Amino acid sequence: MLETQELAIRGMDCADCSARVQRALLALPGVVSAEVYLASEKAVVRFDASRLGPADLRRAVESTGYSVQPQAPASVPSSRPIYVRLTTILGILFGAVLFIVVVGEWLGLFGRITGLVPFPLGVALVAVGGWPVFRNVLHAARNRQVTAHTLMTLGMLAALAIGEWATAAVIVFFMRVGEYVERLTTESSRAALKSLTAMAPSTARLERDSKLIEVPIEEVRAGDVVVVRPGERTPVDGRVVTGQATVDQSTITGESMPMEAGEGTIVYATSLVQLGGLRVEASAVGPETTFGRVVKMVEEAEAHRSDVQRFADRFTGYYLPLVAGIAALTFLIRRDPLATAAVLVVACSCAIALATPIAMLASIGAGAKRGLLIKGGKYLEALARADTVLIDKTGTLTSGKPRITDVFPTNGASSSELLRVAAAAERHSEHPLAEAVREAADAAGLAPIEPSTFQALPGLGVRARVDGMEVVVGNRRLLPEAARHPLAADLQNQGKTLLFVVLGGELTGILAASDTLRPEVPAAIAALRSLGIENFELLTGDNRSTAAALAAELGVPYRAELLPEDKIGVVAEYQARGATVVMVGDGVNDAPALAKADVGIAMGAAGVDVAIEAAHVALMREDWTLVPELFRIARRTMKVVKMNLLYTAIYNFLGLGLAAAGLLPPVLAAAAQSLPDLGILANSSRLLRQK
Ligand code: ADP
Ligand code: MG
Repeated sequence: MLETQELAIRGMDCADCSARVQRALLALPGVVSAEVYLASEKAVVRFDASRLGPADLRRAVESTGYSVQPQAPASVPSSRPIYVRLTTILGILFGAVLFIVVVGEWLGLFGRITGLVPFPLGVALVAVGGWPVFRNVLHAARNRQVTAHTLMTLGMLAALAIGEWATAAVIVFFMRVGEYVERLTTESSRAALKSLTAMAPSTARLERDSKLIEVPIEEVRAGDVVVVRPGERTPVDGRVVTGQATVDQSTITGESMPMEAGEGTIVYATSLVQLGGLRVEASAVGPETTFGRVVKMVEEAEAHRSDVQRFADRFTGYYLPLVAGIAALTFLIRRDPLATAAVLVVACSCAIALATPIAMLASIGAGAKRGLLIKGGKYLEALARADTVLIDKTGTLTSGKPRITDVFPTNGASSSELLRVAAAAERHSEHPLAEAVREAADAAGLAPIEPSTFQALPGLGVRARVDGMEVVVGNRRLLPEAARHPLAADLQNQGKTLLFVVLGGELTGILAASDTLRPEVPAAIAALRSLGIENFELLTGDNRSTAAALAAELGVPYRAELLPEDKIGVVAEYQARGATVVMVGDGVNDAPALAKADVGIAMGAAGVDVAIEAAHVALMREDWTLVPELFRIARRTMKVVKMNLLYTAIYNFLGLGLAAAGLLPPVLAAAAQSLPDLGILANSSRLLRQK
C-alpha cells in the first residue's frame, strides 16, 4: 500500500544537499518517489508502507548528515545553537589572521611563518577548524557520493602533504566561509517563503458555550465560529455570520484596497480585519484554506524545474569529474602539488547549481505576495518564451457575471413559469450562466424548487427532471432543433448568449444573457502585444455572433461553439506548429485545456480550489493587468538566471584555467570560490524588489 509522508529536514544549506538527501531516499527499496525541497526544508516521500516505515526514511536522511524534525510546520524558523555561532565567529577571526599572514608570506613580507608553529599543531588546527566540513564529506563518501567539498578536502590534504599547514588552514577557513555564504544565499531564498507563512495566525478566538476561548489554530474545525477583532488577521476561510468591517485581503489577492465585509461575505484566512469586528463561521482551516494551498504550492514550486535548471543540475554532475580530471592532468604535466591543490579548491560547483533556483524562488515568492501564484520555475521559463495566448471567454474575458436580459416564452407559458423551470434545472450548476438564471428567477420573486435529477453537460448546458418532466437548458449545439426558432437569429445578432429551454421535448422559451467585457482587458492585450506576443485567439463555447462581437472589439481571431475537449485540440494544434502556448481561463470548466497548455493561467482563483489545483499559474484576483505583469516578471527572471549562469561559468573556467597554469595560489583560489554565490545572491535579490 502506497503512503505519502512529509519530513521536515534541518541543516540543508546547499543545492547539493537536497540532491543528496533525495538520492539517499530514492535508494531505499520501496520508495516510489521523493522530492526534497531546499527552500521549504522538507521532503515529500511516497513509499510502499508494507516494505518500509517512517523510521527507515528518517535513518536514510540522517545517514546523509541532516536531521529530521518530528513535525513539519514550515513556519518554524531554523535557528542554530549558540556554540555553532561562537565557533563560526572564532573561526572567522582566526582565519582572517591566517589569511593575512599567508598572503603576506606569499608576497614575501614575513619569513617562513609556517615553520614557526610545530607541524602537528598545525594539523590539529586544520582538523578542528574543518571538522564540520570533513564530517559532511565523510557522510557523503559513505553514501558513495562526491561533493565539491570532497575535492576541496583533497586539495587541502595535498597542501598538508607538502607540509604547508598554513595553506591548508586557509583553505579550510574559506571552505567554511563558502559554506556560510551558501547558507546565507539559501536562507535568503527561504526568506520570501517565511515572510509568507508568517502571515498565518497561529491561534483563533473561538465561541464555545457563549464564552470566548483562545485555542491553537490546529484545534479549530470547520463549522466553528471564530471572533476576529480589528487589527487581527482572520485565522480561517469562512462566511461572516455577524459584524461589519473593512477587510484587507492583500495577502491573498495582492489587492491592498480594502473591501467592505458584512453578513454573508466570504473572507479568507490571513485577511486583515480593520475598523470593526467579525464573527466568522469557518469553512476551511489550516492547509485547507486558500492561503494554505498557496503556501503549499510555493513550498513545492522547486519540484517543477525549468529546463535551464535541469541542464545546470546535469552539468554539475559532469563538472566535478571534469575538475578531478583537470587536477590530475595538472599534476601529471606540471608536477606541481600547489597548482593541483588550487585546481581542486577553486572548483566550487555550488554557484552553478544555485544560479537558477535562487532567481526563480525570488520571483515566485515576490509573485505570491502580489496575488500571482506561480507553481514553478518551469512555467516562468515557458512564459518568457511564449508567443501565443489563447483566451477563454466566459468568466475570463467577460465579467463572469452575465445577466438575463430577455425572457421569451414560445409556447404560451408565462415568463415566470419559464424562469421557474429554467432556474430549477440550473439549481446545481456552477456555471456563471446558471447563476444568472437563478438570479433572474429570484428577482422575479420565484421560490427555488429542487430538481429530482440533475446532469451538467460541459460546454452545452444542463439536463434535469423538474416536477416529473425532463428539462433541458442549453445552447444551439445541444438543441439544434430549438435553435431554428425565428427569434433566435434576431437575438443572436445583438451579441447575446442564448439559452434554449426545452420542457418535455418541446421548446418553451428562450432566455438571452449578456455579459460585459472586463474594462481592463483591451489595455492588457495591448501591453502583451507590446511585449511581442503576436498570436491571440479567443476560444469559446458560446455562439458565433457573441464571440465575433467580442473578438472584433479586441481585434483578435476567434473560434466559437467549442466543447471543452475542442479547446484542448486547439491548444495541441498550436503546439504542433511549435508554438509555446499560454492559455488564460477561469480554471473551472476549461481546466483540461489549461493543463494541456504550456502555461495555464486561471483567473480569479481565490477561493476556487479546483482552479488553484488545475492551473500552472493562478491569479488570485480577477484582474487582467496581472497577465502582462506576469510575462514581465518571467522575462526579468530569465534574464537574471542567464546572467547568473554566464557569470558563474566564466568565473569558474577562468579560475580553473589560472589555477591549472599555476597562476593562482591555493590560498587565493580558496578565497575566490566563495565569491560567485554572493554575486548570485546580489543579482537575484533584485527580483524580490521588482515593481
Ligand atoms: P466559454 O468557453 O465561453 O467559457 P463555456 O464552455 O463555459 O463557455 O460554455 C459554453 C456554452 O455552453 C455557453 O455559452 C452556454 O451556451 C452553454 N452552457 C454551459 N453551461 C451552461 C449552463 N449551466 N446553462 C446553460 N448553458 C450552458
Ligand atoms: Mg469559461
